[in-house]
Parts: sequence; structure tokens; C-alpha cells
Amino acid sequence: MKRVDIIISGGGMIGSIAAVAASQQGLSVLLIEAQSTSTIKQDSPRDLRVSAISADNINYLKELGIFAHLLQDRVQPYSKMQVWDNRGDGEIAFETDYAQQDYLGYLMENNNLVQAAWNTLNGHCQSVQQTQIKTIENEGAQIRVELSNGDKYKSRLLIAAEGRNSFVRAFAKIKTKETPYYQKGLVAYIKIENAPTQTALQAFNTGGPIGILPINNTEKIYSIVWSLPEKQADEWLQCEQQTFEQGVTKAIGKDFGQITLLSKRAAFPLTQLYAQDYFKNRIVLCGDSAHGVHPLAGQGVNLGIGDIQLLLKVIDASVLKDDDLLHQALRKYQRRRIWKVKETSEMMSILHHLFKDDEHIKKPLRNIGLKVVNALPFKKWLANQAGS
Ligand SMILES: Cc1cc2nc3c(=O)[nH]c(=O)nc-3n(C[C@H](O)[C@H](O)[C@H](O)COP(=O)(O)OP(=O)(O)OC[C@H]3O[C@@H](n4cnc5c(N)ncnc54)[C@H](O)[C@@H]3O)c2cc1C
Repeated sequence: MKRVDIIISGGGMIGSIAAVAASQQGLSVLLIEAQSTSTIKQDSPRDLRVSAISADNINYLKELGIFAHLLQDRVQPYSKMQVWDNRGDGEIAFETDYAQQDYLGYLMENNNLVQAAWNTLNGHCQSVQQTQIKTIENEGAQIRVELSNGDKYKSRLLIAAEGRNSFVRAFAKIKTKETPYYQKGLVAYIKIENAPTQTALQAFNTGGPIGILPINNTEKIYSIVWSLPEKQADEWLQCEQQTFEQGVTKAIGKDFGQITLLSKRAAFPLTQLYAQDYFKNRIVLCGDSAHGVHPLAGQGVNLGIGDIQLLLKVIDASVLKDDDLLHQALRKYQRRRIWKVKETSEMMSILHHLFKDDEHIKKPLRNIGLKVVNALPFKKWLANQAGS
């Protein structure tokens, strides 16, 4: 049986960043990924999944050396945000002063970030792909696992970063509370002739918001995340290109010139998910295995990075060896992250419910809402959210 300090199950964005951070802290790590990670080059087709990573988390990726491994032609900083409601006169604008940086964040394809983290790891930790954990023993001072390739490992901690449907979380019998929004997030790439540059845009409409994220300013390419009732999302997925372009133009509601669809369309069901506990003995949850939030403010990955930062702050080699110290550390992690996630997720839910339908009574509230958001210090709080 081989031995490492930490096993991480799930080598997506959060698991691979956690592996880099733990290795750099001097801990020995085994990273297990069920799929094979794709290799992308400058000219590879774009990943439809795009994330907005906050300025603070970009700094963290720089400290870890991950940022330097990103394909730089395929990332885009943004320094402004513009949010408006197409049914009222409310509008808010964020600029970089709120983040005290040159930029509010960076936009990047999910597989660019995953590849960069795996490349940073190269040789610094053990890793396997197309492999999963088959069995787990989670009692006493060690955790023991058997992998689908027959290898056996023991470690001091098992981090589940397997996304929403976590096998390890289910094994640990950690309950979840999942609330459907009865919506899907439709994603695609579009070209917009005259949209403001370096600006993340969001328009609220009946049905849900559309986020328009600049992924390449030079070529005027934007990634959209359009939150829609499930049936409408399916219709927009299947309609003719021209009809779709007209629909997007109407959902944006401002005249930014010609809009052209550049890619396939895909849609993901949107649900709010809370794990009721974040750890069980020597198993701990990070990222979407612990929480799922509405994508209207692009917080999922940012919250996951916040999990990793805190987890690796409260544990080290000596804490891992001591049952009492470890449980104390994991309790602290759980307490702080559950609170942080709840605060962010509930705020997203309030915005979602306030803006999604056309109820007359909500109209003045929406206008007041945007005006309140536009006033400090709430705007500053919102602008800084992604960094936590
Ligand atoms: C439409 C949409 C738009 C979004 N936009 C944003 C945004 O702009 N900004 C943002 O911050 N967030 C955004 N999110 C949320 C973000 O995508 C997630 O929060 C993020 O993917 C979570 O990363 P993760 O690594 O925890 O999980 P995942 O990305 O789901 O990765 C999990 C990994 O674990 C692997 N795995 C699964 N099961 C096993 C197993 N049993 N054994 C081993 N490996 C396993 C998977 O293959 C995968 O590689 C968006 C979400 C949606 C739906």
C-alpha cells in the first residue's frame, strides 16, 4: 500500500488547483481524475464553459505559478462591469477602483485553467487519470482507498473535488439540500460588433439574466451565459441561428451592433446545492462537491478557490497527524466556508427571484434594488464578493 499525505479525488479546476497548493506546501499528494484531461493549444476549438475569476483569485493563481501556464492568448482581463434591467431604468456600473487592481478579474475557458494547473503540477505530485476510487475506509488516523486500477493508497486526508455528483460525499453519507431553480444556463460564443471593451455585461429580463463576457476583445468574441426557464432554454438551443441571434439581441436590449453566433450552444440545469457538513472524519469537501450556486454572478469557481485557500491555511503536516488538531481545523474550515457560501448563494437567489419574473409589484423593488446596489458600500461588497 502506497502512502501520501493527501488524496484528492477530482482533477477539475478545484481539485487540480488544490493539488498544486498542497504540493507547494510540502505535502505529498495523489490526484485522481475520472476522465482524461484534454490538451488544448492556441488553435483548439473553444471550451463552451467559461469562468470569471476574480482579481484576488488571479493573484492566488499567480502565486501558485498556475497563471503563467495559462494559454495567454485565450484569457481576457476585464476592468468594468455594467448591469441593467431591461424593464426599468436601473443600471449599475462597477469599475476597478472597487477592487483596487488594474482589473476586476479575468475570463478564461475552464479547460485552459485545468490544463494550466495540471502543467504546474508536472512531476510535483502523483496523479492518475481515467481512474476512480472504488472503496474507502474512513476510520481512525488513516484513510485507505482502493482505486479502479487496483492500486491501494493510505493518506491522512481525502479531499472530494468531484463536482456536484460526488462519489466520496455519497460514501461519507454527507447529506445535501438541493433546490432547483427550474432554469438552465445556456452557453455559447457570439461576436458583438460594438460592445464596450474589457467590460463584463449583464442584462436582467423576464425569465432570467443574460451575462455577456468578453473573452477576446480584439476579435470581439463574447461568451454568453443565458439563464432561462427550462422549456425556453430548450427552444433557444434548437432554433435557427438567425432566430437565436435575434433572441440574444433582444435579451441584451442595447444597441451594440450586429450579433453573430460563433459556436454550438449547450445548456446546464441550474440548482442551488448545499452539503450539510463539509467533512466527515478524514474526508473533506471542496468546490461544487460542497456547494452549487446560481451562475448569475459567476461565483462557483471563486468560492471553490476560497475553500482551498482556507483549507490549506488551517492544515499542515503536523495538524494532519493529530486527530484532535485535524478535527479542530476542519471544524473551523466548515464553519467559515458554510457561512460564506450561504451568504453568497442566498444573495444570488434573492437577485434571481427579484428579477426573473414580470410581477408588477417587483418592478419598483427591482429599480430600487439596482439603485441601492449602485450606492456604496453595497456595490463595493458585491465587487469584492468574488474574491472570497
Ligand atoms: C452555465 C454555468 C456558468 C458558470 N459560470 C461560472 C463563472 O463565470 N464563474 C465561476 O466562478 N463559476 C461559474 N460556474 C460554476 C463553475 O462551473 C463550477 O463552480 C466549477 O466547475 C466547479 O469546479 P469543481 O472543480 O468543483 O467541479 P467540476 O468542474 O465539476 O470538476 C469535477 C472534476 O472531478 C471529476 N470527477 C467527478 N467524479 C469523479 C470521481 N468519482 N473520481 C475522480 N474524478 C471525478 C470530473 O471529471 C471533473 O474533472 C458556472 C456554472 C454553470 C452551470
